[in-house]
Amino acid sequence: MATVDLKAVSKIYGSTVRAVDSVDLSIANGEFIVLVGPSGCGKSTTLRMIAGLEDLSGGTIAIGDRIVNDVPPKDRNIAMVFQNYALYPHLNVRQNLSFGLERRRTFKSRWRGIWDSAYRTQRHAEHIAITTRVDAAARTLGIEHLLNRPPRELSGGQRQRVAVGRALVRDPAVFLFDEPLSNLDALLRGEMRTELRILHRSLKATMVYVTHDQEEAMSLADRMVVMKDGVVQQIGSPAEIYERPFNRFVASFIGTPPMNMFDGHIGLGSDGEFKFRWGKSEFSLKNRWGAGELSSVAKSSVTVGIRPDRLVILPAAEKQDSSCMTGHIVTIERYGPLADIVAQVNGARVISRIATDTLGAMREGDSITLQFGMQFAHLFREDGSAITSPKH
Ligand code: ADP
Ligand code: MG
Repeated sequence: MATVDLKAVSKIYGSTVRAVDSVDLSIANGEFIVLVGPSGCGKSTTLRMIAGLEDLSGGTIAIGDRIVNDVPPKDRNIAMVFQNYALYPHLNVRQNLSFGLERRRTFKSRWRGIWDSAYRTQRHAEHIAITTRVDAAARTLGIEHLLNRPPRELSGGQRQRVAVGRALVRDPAVFLFDEPLSNLDALLRGEMRTELRILHRSLKATMVYVTHDQEEAMSLADRMVVMKDGVVQQIGSPAEIYERPFNRFVASFIGTPPMNMFDGHIGLGSDGEFKFRWGKSEFSLKNRWGAGELSSVAKSSVTVGIRPDRLVILPAAEKQDSSCMTGHIVTIERYGPLADIVAQVNGARVISRIATDTLGAMREGDSITLQFGMQFAHLFREDGSAITSPKH
């Protein structure tokens, strides 16, 4: 097993496309790291540079203690699983699993074995070793009963398992996955996520996993690396990134439905306290941010972000105070035990996610009251960076 260290790693295609821009990342031994971000943000390029399939335009990559910039892929002790798992159609599952190992065999020739008994013994030992490894991988992945089948007789999920098995038999120091579950249906994707987590726990291997799907990233990662336009936006555990996003992009990208964003500004209220002004209303911020942090953005534009499960929407008849605003319900979307209320308030679309059984008599078209709970709010400067607070 091994650590992976990226220092100022960049990739420039042609003379202009900065696919990866000075990425620094230290991956611990045995860690499950997920690179996540929208399509085109440089995830695959980063992974391919770790694999050795792309040259670096700048920086260094080390696997363990060794800088591998000039080490060919086959000597990096890594194994990669791609989205298009590309099994050999004319080989059965066992042959697909053993293919890479067979190619690396030292004692290959049958003919030499006819005259040289020592060679024959070693060739046989090597054959047994490969068979044992393939059997062990097949057992781990629950595909022993498929070993004699050709890929065309496998389901998508089974093929994906074989692709993972091909990496597994090589017993690499680092596993690299590039969107390996994207071709599976939602149910199977969920199952495979669980299996990958279990596999990671039992192997204790270093894994680097790429996905554009933030839910997949949250469910798999020890730590995730959120990227945008080739630049790392934030590195942290799923909980850290969800609870303390560094900037507006990370806040919007992580979490479903996305965080509600309210563009307003900070001003001094008649009581001498800083308020968030949105439309005709103003909301106290003093229980969340200190005067020092707020004075630094006083009078400038800011954005308040509140996750849908923290935004409270009540029937309009209920008591109102200064932290309320009125609007109406556009739609109610029910997902079994949860429901999303989409409302129009002060010209903005907002989403509140609640337990379906607390919907009560609320209907589409009803007037509602939106209650700002600033204790759960995130605050972003005009440039998108988050204003963190000791009260977070
Ligand atoms: P992701 O995997 O996050 O979707 P990629 O790493 O594949 O993104 O691509 C990052 C950027 O680099 C994109 O703008 C993409 O168009 C560009 N890119 C990727 N590969 C090449 C290439 N071989 N030649 C030129 N541009 C490329
Ligand atoms: Mg990609």
